[in-house]
Amino acid sequence: MGRVPNHLFVVDDDKCFGCGACIALCPVNVLDLHNRLAVVDEKNCTHCELCIPSCPVFALDILPENSI
Ligand code: SF4
Ligand code: SF4
Repeated sequence: MGRVPNHLFVVDDDKCFGCGACIALCPVNVLDLHNRLAVVDEKNCTHCELCIPSCPVFALDILPENSI
């Protein structure tokens, strides 16, 4: 398992309300809260997807670069 080529891990700013659930789950600690919004150090995200189901408002996803 590694990063999905030509894809980026994204946080949907319009959905995130800063609950922090995703942050607790990231095994490589690349998620943080800034101004009640989850932000990711994307270059160091492993695309493991562990955090994605934790978000109650489905704000997390891994999307093709050219769709962002
Ligand atoms: S996909 Fe994995 S590495 Fe990336 S932010 Fe979520 S838990 Fe962390
Ligand atoms: S779990 Fe979802 S709503 Fe909560 S901080 Fe993470 S992205 Fe935002």
